Amino acid sequence: MSLVLFGPPGAGKGTQSQLMLETKPFIHLSTGNLLREAIQQKSPLGIEAQSYVDAGKLVPDSVVIGLVREFIEKKKTSRFIFDGFPRTIVQAEALEKQIEEIGAVNIQRALFLEVPQTDLLQRLTGRRVCKNCGAVFHELNNPPKKSGFCDVCGGEVYQRKDDAAEAIQTRLEAYEKSTAPLKEYYIKKGLFVSIDGLGSSGQVFGRIQTYL
Ligand code: AMP
Repeated sequence: MSLVLFGPPGAGKGTQSQLMLETKPFIHLSTGNLLREAIQQKSPLGIEAQSYVDAGKLVPDSVVIGLVREFIEKKKTSRFIFDGFPRTIVQAEALEKQIEEIGAVNIQRALFLEVPQTDLLQRLTGRRVCKNCGAVFHELNNPPKKSGFCDVCGGEVYQRKDDAAEAIQTRLEAYEKSTAPLKEYYIKKGLFVSIDGLGSSGQVFGRIQTYL
């Protein structure tokens, strides 16, 4: 079975995906990570996506859907955690129709991480990420032991460009306009599950585990 993990920016999708991967044999598909990789490699797709990602805007559906199709085609599994995809109704329909066809992907549940906006802002503005392994820290709540360096791999810890105040605002607006309607979409399909995303990452993970 595959799972969709969705919610507003800063809800903890990446962190919870990582925790789920430690206990269950899923393949992690994060469109945010795929896009950042493409940007770092300066591939044609990365060059096209960069201005959207840096500004906090959604990358066009056709680009993201193409990226996901390619990823699924390469992996010989039907057990994915979709992290940050779909983010629009068009993407959800593509996942259901075209992408399921090619990859025999079957979505069992869409887990929605629910976090109030004030907490999202606090999480996003303080978020720091390892450039090398993607481990997530928080400037105040969970700083790396050695300032500027990752506890896991020693890589450089940085602030994502789209975690700057202006881009955060754009991302929250994009979420409200394009991604929040997915709640209704998955409720209608009978796949929607709401998870309280407040508290420590361990507490939230406990709720997900109880549910699963
Ligand atoms: P994330 O790492 O999930 O927070 O994504 C970072 C950024 O990548 C987003 O703010 C968007 O600019 C872009 N992005 C990631 N996933 C998608 C998607 N499914 N559709 C459109 N844009 C995306």
